[in-house]
Amino acid sequence: MGVDAQSGAPPSKDARRSNNSVFRTAPKPNRRRAPRAYASLFAPDGRRRRWMLTYVCPHCGFGHRALARSEQAARMLLTRGACGRLVVIRIARTYRGREDA
Ligand SMILES: [Zn+2]
Repeated sequence: MGVDAQSGAPPSKDARRSNNSVFRTAPKPNRRRAPRAYASLFAPDGRRRRWMLTYVCPHCGFGHRALARSEQAARMLLTRGACGRLVVIRIARTYRGREDA
């Protein structure tokens, strides 16, 4: 097929998008494809009602934070970091505070 250099003509509707059919689908929250991040989980303190977790992002290497409604939810969390990538959270450590221990 001839390479049609952009000659200024408007693209006709017959123009084939032959090699253009690979388009990026919107990323779904896909637990299997998201890498794991090992997180430290912090129990709610006085001001914070939710569990907070911090992790080093496997995508960008920076540390991100996330919140979860419960400890159980934190353990199953699929979250999107500040860099926009999905990770599956694995809790490496849990800090519950002194009152709870
Ligand atoms: Zn990141």
